[in-house]
Amino acid sequence: MIDADKIKQDFPILFQSVNDEPLIYLDNAATSQKPRQVLDAIQHYYEHDNANIHRGVHTLAERATTHYEEAREKLRRFINAASTKEVLFTRGTTTGLNWVSRSFGDSVIEEGDEIYITPMEHHSNVVPWQQLAKRKNAKLVYLPLTADGFVDVQKSAEVISAKGKILSVCHASNVLGITNPIKELAELIHQQNGYIVVDGAQSVPHMKVDVQALDADFYAFSGHKMLGPTGSGILYGKEALLNAMEPVEFGGEMIDFVYDYESTWNVLPWKFEAGTPNIVGGIGLGAAVDYLEAIGMDEIEAYEKELVRYVLPKLQTIEGISVYGPADPELHTGVITFNLDGVHPHDLATAFDMEGIAVRAGHHCAQTLMRYLDVHATARASFYFYNTFEDADRFIDSLKKIKEFFKDGFI
Ligand code: PMP
Repeated sequence: MIDADKIKQDFPILFQSVNDEPLIYLDNAATSQKPRQVLDAIQHYYEHDNANIHRGVHTLAERATTHYEEAREKLRRFINAASTKEVLFTRGTTTGLNWVSRSFGDSVIEEGDEIYITPMEHHSNVVPWQQLAKRKNAKLVYLPLTADGFVDVQKSAEVISAKGKILSVCHASNVLGITNPIKELAELIHQQNGYIVVDGAQSVPHMKVDVQALDADFYAFSGHKMLGPTGSGILYGKEALLNAMEPVEFGGEMIDFVYDYESTWNVLPWKFEAGTPNIVGGIGLGAAVDYLEAIGMDEIEAYEKELVRYVLPKLQTIEGISVYGPADPELHTGVITFNLDGVHPHDLATAFDMEGIAVRAGHHCAQTLMRYLDVHATARASFYFYNTFEDADRFIDSLKKIKEFFKDGFI
């Protein structure tokens, strides 16, 4: 099993006090921390290789280009895409989903068509589809969930019709702690000659993802949630689909020839990457992939499962605590969302901060889901593979202490 105490040594930020207590970072679903190896790759790039890529013939430009394109190949291998033509650098999941809805969405959706999403989606997988539906006078349809919060495949089969062109769904929820059956959903929508778009923001950092095995048409994720820099990310798309699509942004890099009144486009993947990209972001993300692969995604998933098996039952036995998503730890990811009776989640998160523990409170960019759960907000502790069992103990002990503090009512 992973030695989280040893791994933690690679993350300098974790060795500090917050409110005179040693920091415990449990906000990994919002963003992960960065290991020394990624920080070194960023510093090394700026100290040795910094130049603009693709255009230059000088040594630094060639070196920077090589490192950037090597990072793309690492990302390709990491998600098992068939070719680097299918691996587009983006600013993150949000950009990827916007590109797909804008370019692919505009080309395939016609008036009266149906676009499927689910009540658990992050706003970045809701709003772009709302906008597309409005532009095209199409219908946005929410797929049903099971009692545990998974997309209900059987019931969805009854909802998905021949009018269905796009199904966009998260692989893992940022609130409910579940992982959706993507392969089955891909089959359902493919049977209707539609396409599946997957929001992989919460899955790629935590499990082995194989885009070909899932048969995903598009798959978007963010670098900053998987040890990489902010402003980095990937949009995977099947080559034939990307080839047929119009670019979303126009400018340098993405063109082949620019005539006075029209232009032609570069080949994939650069057709979509207008302007100077986040070069160091891509290289830093490549270093993050090296780090994750050296540990092993299966090991990371197995370790996080052990943490959940340890912490979830302890949380469930605290009176007054409601945990959202599946009660069975075997079905639950390291994203644990909860409320304490009578205490506003923001007060809960502030009280945790006084204990040096970073948890999140609010709607988690999932207002649709908050309405579905009939709550205004929740607290969320999200674990990663550098969290130790001691971290889990401090989280539970602090929660008990906080509960005691608020017992006579505060709000
Ligand atoms: N989808 C999910 C499930 C997420 O958790 C997040 C980040 N909170 C996003 C999409 C958006 O990611 P980003 O802000 O990095 O674009």
